[in-house]
Formats: sequence, C-alpha cells, structure tokens
Amino acid sequence: MRKDEEPVPLPKRRHSVSRQNKRRANWKAKAPNLIPCPDCRALKLAHQACPACGNYAGRQVVEIKPHIHRGRS
Ligand SMILES: [Zn+2]
Repeated sequence: MRKDEEPVPLPKRRHSVSRQNKRRANWKAKAPNLIPCPDCRALKLAHQACPACGNYAGRQVVEIKPHIHRGRS
C-alpha cells in the first residue's frame, strides 16, 4: 500500500466497448510458413530440418526412423 499522495497514472476516460472490441479483433492465428523441401518436395516448416527426409541446407542432419510414417503413405 502506498502511503505518500503521489498520483498514480490512470486512464482519464473509459474506452468504449467498440474500441475495446476493435483492439481485440487484431488478434489472429497465422498459418505456419510451409515450404516444399528442396530434397524430397514434402512440405516442411521454413528454417527447420525436413521431418520426411531429415535434410537441412543440403545435408542429412536428422536420422529418419522407418516407422515414422503412420496412416497413409
Ligand atoms: Zn525433405
């Protein structure tokens, strides 16, 4: 608790519901930046090793286990 009488910064006016809703409307989920892998053409996240072939920057960086493909393939 403050004992001195120093003013605390506070908004002078209440914001309207319209203004509050406009602020909250600018809050969206973005689609992941998928790019085709230059080695195997599968879609992968940019700047990350390909989960299908394990390559990054033209060389193998992750070992791919054969049972990683579940379901269709
Ligand atoms: Zn790949």
